[in-house]
Amino acid sequence: MKVSNNMTEIHEDYGPSYSYSDLKKGDPIDYRLEGHTEHGEILWVAVASTLSSGQHFPPHYVVIADGNTFPDMVLFSDLVMDAEPTMEYCQWCLGMHLKGAMDQCPLNPNRKV
Ligand SMILES: [Zn+2]
Repeated sequence: MKVSNNMTEIHEDYGPSYSYSDLKKGDPIDYRLEGHTEHGEILWVAVASTLSSGQHFPPHYVVIADGNTFPDMVLFSDLVMDAEPTMEYCQWCLGMHLKGAMDQCPLNPNRKV
C-alpha cells in the first residue's frame, strides 16, 4: 500500500482527499441516484466526515454529473461498476459485442455482409 500522508491534498470545500480509492479526481464514473444511473466526473474523493447534524458520513466521491451545476455526494456503494463500457448486450445472440458492431453479429437477420 502506498503511503502518501505527506501528499494529502486539502480542498477548501470538501476537506482532505481520501487516498485509498481506486478512482481519482477527473475520472468519469457512473453512479446510482434516486433510482436511475447518472454519469459524471469526479471532482474530489473526500474522507469521512461528520455532518453538522452530527451524523457520520463515510468517504465519498464529490461528482459533477453531466449537465449539472451542483455536485452530488456519491457513496462508494452507489458506484455502478461497468467493466467494459464499450460493449453492448446483443439481442440476437444474447452475448456481447463492441458498441456499434451489432450488425456484424452472425445471428442478426439484418446483417450487412
Ligand atoms: Zn450477437
